[in-house]
Amino acid sequence: MNSNGYDQDRHEQIDVMDFACRFFKARGGVVEERGLTRDILLPEAVAQTLGTDEFFRVGPEEVVVQGRSKVHAVQLHTPFLDRMLTLAGESPPFARAELKFDYIKTQGFDRLIENRFQFHKSKIRVMKTGEARTRYLILTCRYTAQSDEIKQGLVEICVNLETGAVIPGMAQGLSHVQKEFILDKGREVNEKEVETIGTIVSQYGQVLVKERLGSFVESMNRRFNRDTASLDAYYQALEEEMRQNLGRGGISPDLAREREEKIAMIPAELAAKKKDLLNKYGIRIEFKPAAALYLTSACVAVFARLISGRNSRDFTLTYNPVTKDMDPVVCHTCGAGTYAMGLCPNLHISCPDCLGLTCG
Ligand SMILES: [Zn+2]
Ligand SMILES: [Zn+2]
Repeated sequence: MNSNGYDQDRHEQIDVMDFACRFFKARGGVVEERGLTRDILLPEAVAQTLGTDEFFRVGPEEVVVQGRSKVHAVQLHTPFLDRMLTLAGESPPFARAELKFDYIKTQGFDRLIENRFQFHKSKIRVMKTGEARTRYLILTCRYTAQSDEIKQGLVEICVNLETGAVIPGMAQGLSHVQKEFILDKGREVNEKEVETIGTIVSQYGQVLVKERLGSFVESMNRRFNRDTASLDAYYQALEEEMRQNLGRGGISPDLAREREEKIAMIPAELAAKKKDLLNKYGIRIEFKPAAALYLTSACVAVFARLISGRNSRDFTLTYNPVTKDMDPVVCHTCGAGTYAMGLCPNLHISCPDCLGLTCG
């Protein structure tokens, strides 16, 4: 961890330039692409709060290091991005954009679905496909993972708003897609969706951050195990010593009872010390939204039938032109996105975890 707390693991990098440009656009700025850098024109008030000129250039750190002056570096650990994130935290920029594609796949969905999904005691039949539209929300969150050390960084979580499924790999794929930003400030996400997103962020975000901070989690687990082992060893030695002293004789019955009581208390004391360790090395992760990007996009709706014995259920899958992949299907029972499914006796399309459960 460096001085201002940003983790710099390589695999932690998200497209901060993309985030920065969205931030500027959401605040009425104009962004023009110039190779690796972007020219930014900001309204005066925004420039003032950000502490920049109205016109400036941003670029990735490599470009700035190469000695071009007047280019603001946009990297996770720069004060400039830090300032943007602080401003974003006060009122997270909510940007809207329509995704533009030159080409979207029109056939071959049967094979893609066969390869991508696993079917438990069932098979799938693609009935027809059709052009459709769907909505995604990309939420950029600043996370703080607190344990014996603190780690901070950004994560992006993408949710298909039509289904509630988390879309893996969406944020990475997005930087190559043309976006037409829409400037009016309509509210596009309803209260119920906001609630769903909150749940998704706290559940999926935890998993995501722990994956990202793999080495951090490992190191905390290692320290926890090390300290637990030495606690075990310490209390074991203590107990042995106390028992030996008792065995030597020559002590009054009162004192012997007192010592026996002390020995009996050791397990509880050890358990309490272990709980302290768990608190020390356990990882608490908090999220603060830094930005939200609402996307509308063309997609392909694939109408399919899941057949299991005599039972069948028709449902719709979504082909996502950003990830060039099928979006996960949402389990009818638990609501999680899944690439494995089966049909329960009550004709729910269920993920493997839910298939064995009884449902109403
Ligand atoms: Zn499920
Ligand atoms: Zn069911």
